[in-house]
Amino acid sequence: MENKLASVRFNVDGVQKNTYDAIVIGSGISGGWAAKELCEHGLKTLVLERGRNVVHNKDYPTATKNPWELPHRGRLSREFLDANPLISKSAGIGEDNRHFFIEDKDHPYIQEKPFDWIRGYQVGGKSIIWGRATQRWSKYEFTAPERLGYGLKWPIGYDDIAPWYSHVELFIGVCGNKDGLEAMPDGEFLPPFDLNCVESHMQKSIRDNYKDRFLVQARWAHLTEPREIHLKQGRGKCQARNLCMRGCPFGGYFSSVSSTLPWAERTGNLTMRPHSVVHSIIYDEKKGRASGVRVIDANTKEVTDYFANVIFVNASALNSNLILLNSKSSRFPNGLGNDNGLLGKYVGFHNYRGFVSGTIDGFEDRYYYGRNPTEPILANYRNLKKQETDYVGGFTTFMGAYRSSWGDEKFQSMDCGESLKNAVKHPGGWKVYMYLQGETIMKESNHVRLSDTEKDQWGIPLLVTSVGYDDNDDKMVKDFLEQSSEMMTKAGARVVFTNDSHQAPGLDIHEMGGCRMGKDPKNSMLNSWNQLHACKNVFVTDGACMTGTGNQSPSILYMALTARAADYAVKQLKLGASAFT
Ligand SMILES: Cc1cc2nc3c(=O)[nH]c(=O)nc-3n(C[C@H](O)[C@H](O)[C@H](O)COP(=O)(O)OP(=O)(O)OC[C@H]3O[C@@H](n4cnc5c(N)ncnc54)[C@H](O)[C@@H]3O)c2cc1C
Repeated sequence: MENKLASVRFNVDGVQKNTYDAIVIGSGISGGWAAKELCEHGLKTLVLERGRNVVHNKDYPTATKNPWELPHRGRLSREFLDANPLISKSAGIGEDNRHFFIEDKDHPYIQEKPFDWIRGYQVGGKSIIWGRATQRWSKYEFTAPERLGYGLKWPIGYDDIAPWYSHVELFIGVCGNKDGLEAMPDGEFLPPFDLNCVESHMQKSIRDNYKDRFLVQARWAHLTEPREIHLKQGRGKCQARNLCMRGCPFGGYFSSVSSTLPWAERTGNLTMRPHSVVHSIIYDEKKGRASGVRVIDANTKEVTDYFANVIFVNASALNSNLILLNSKSSRFPNGLGNDNGLLGKYVGFHNYRGFVSGTIDGFEDRYYYGRNPTEPILANYRNLKKQETDYVGGFTTFMGAYRSSWGDEKFQSMDCGESLKNAVKHPGGWKVYMYLQGETIMKESNHVRLSDTEKDQWGIPLLVTSVGYDDNDDKMVKDFLEQSSEMMTKAGARVVFTNDSHQAPGLDIHEMGGCRMGKDPKNSMLNSWNQLHACKNVFVTDGACMTGTGNQSPSILYMALTARAADYAVKQLKLGASAFT
């Protein structure tokens, strides 16, 4: 089916056959949104995706498997671990979902400094395997870098994006409670998941002990109470199985394959082309804009050009940088739109190094129902309006409380027979944890570039990553560990583990920047509508466009920026293609 789809699109009948109104590069979280919006507006849209096809519900081979039906009960085999030291570090990867992650040998890159680049190459991209936390950015995150002197001014603010957050939330379904917090604005929420008894206890303790700290219910892309728009997508209520990363047969969480892509397909305007590795964007010197995209078939290596009036770049942050850097012409010898030499620079990520855990006594007579797939969120309480610490930037804290597995501690001192049977009837004690999601400073020195010498199997230069931490990050981790330990202790927990993992950047899987937005073409690549300043019919709306990292989970912002840019692009197209020159 996939190959048939791929083969009928080859350029045998000339340019016209390969011409569309719009091309979207990448079919993940942001590309799915570009496809949906452009198709809904009536544009014949080609989505180019380097990976294989994944169809909702058909291609989730492990979705309903029990642990004993998996050869290693869900654990990655020694063979896989040895062959994949990089990808096997990813959050959440297991025997049950590793088919949605790349394998190391297939997709090399060069780490000038340690950087763990986690990828999922298939239709749906990482939307199938993401964590689904979907808080809104506050207005302070947009203004902080410039206001507090550690970054560039964003060309847009919270008010510009707020209606688009609503647009996205209503369609994808985001659960949460309206808490009225300045640091984490409310959205269009479905009912939240409940806190369990220890989480509620932590919430109260934090409220009682700190006037500016608020632990709230998760804001997560799950259908706790589907609305008509979700049912129309063919999606249903989240069953709290917490097996999301296998693909959800109920469509209970948002992914491109369960939501935006089938929606786009229903318009009749979508052409999906899997196995299509985008090599570069083609620039038309005479017209002064991009004319199309060069693609290498992932299997046959055949090269085909596709053409369109408007191109959306949504290959995920670093791959979008790679494609743009590789899009060379005599007008742009250093990559498309790269007049100022800043393409690939000012890369950021989220600081995930801090983790604190403990135990808490009491509550042994209480349990919880189902497997909650979400985590409570402690909104940022650092440097919101002014700098109050010896570092800049804020952080979000995710937390959770759970009972350690059945009979856990008791097993250790237990023999067998009746005492074993009695012990496994009782769950272990309560454990609590907190982990860091911190803002980082986007610096020119943190960059990606193309290798001059090494190429991948499709003849595309390998990406070199040169991205690292700085003192600011170290100070933030220290503060997080101290503050989180204090909050846990005040709540009556015994802190047993405080850890700075020193993990490499990238493992946060929130890499961003390299093609940042800004008002001035001298110091930014994209304008306030995500168009390349120097090539207006190319829109970059994934994480590459970010001017700062903020501290909230970023993907819902990419979706909102994409929908906003698509709306603008369609309006421009109605004015005639000359609007883009
Ligand atoms: C385990 C995990 C947990 C996460 N948790 C969260 C979370 O809780 N909240 C949050 O906000 N984010 C989270 N993320 C991050 C989130 O997945 C990404 O921010 C998001 O998927 C980025 O969307 P995207 O469209 O830019 O990229 P992707 O979703 O990665 O899609 C990019 C697509 O482009 C394709 N592509 C790449 N290069 C090419 C090329 N040359 N030609 C053609 N196609 C190409 C890829 O195959 C892929 O399908 C998590 C990620 C992971 C893996």
